[in-house]
Amino acid sequence: MEKIIDLLTRISELYTIPQWAVNTGAIAIFCILVAFPFVVRHLMQPKYYRFRELILFKVLWRWKYKKGDVVGLWCYCPKCQAMLMVDDENCRSNESLQDKVTYFICNECGGHELGRVVGGDRRYALSLVKRDLWRHIKEGTFNEVSTATKEALEIYQKIEASKKNECETCTDETALSEIEEPLNTEVQEEDEKKEEPKSTETALHVKEDVIENELKEDIKKDGI
Ligand SMILES: [Zn+2]
Repeated sequence: MEKIIDLLTRISELYTIPQWAVNTGAIAIFCILVAFPFVVRHLMQPKYYRFRELILFKVLWRWKYKKGDVVGLWCYCPKCQAMLMVDDENCRSNESLQDKVTYFICNECGGHELGRVVGGDRRYALSLVKRDLWRHIKEGTFNEVSTATKEALEIYQKIEASKKNECETCTDETALSEIEEPLNTEVQEEDEKKEEPKSTETALHVKEDVIENELKEDIKKDGI
């Protein structure tokens, strides 16, 4: 350290540059050298590395990348961002694929079912999500999906914020029950949708624009 200070002093005297300028320049060069490998690594990353969120089966999925592979994939609540509980116990006892259901539940939001996958357990659900996210990467649609996910999350947060405001302003129980209605209808609508499609695969794929439309409907219901 003393040698470096001595060197900087010599440079200052030799070129008649103020000491503070030499010191500042030295610190700047040091910072650049330290940051350089990180910047290069960041620039060398594939563009799809920014694609880390996706709404599928009515829940939010988040993941990371490690050496080109998807790691840490798990589901989160699109409303409060909490990690979700996954209930797939029925998959062990049921033989028929149609009877195997994985439920996504948010304990933070009162233990309600947020979404479900028909046809298998949590490993099956994770494989479906992985397949879908890699499809977006291969087809080059990950930027659009990323933007749509962020917008959908903002809408979810606005809905939650408006519900909280309504709860703060209202005092009687009738008003509270009115607020809970959209949540119940959402689950009923979902049940109806699951029964309609003939193919399990199509039933499992909930498009982002569909979610957005549902969210917009919710906003209308909430009177935003
Ligand atoms: Zn939640």
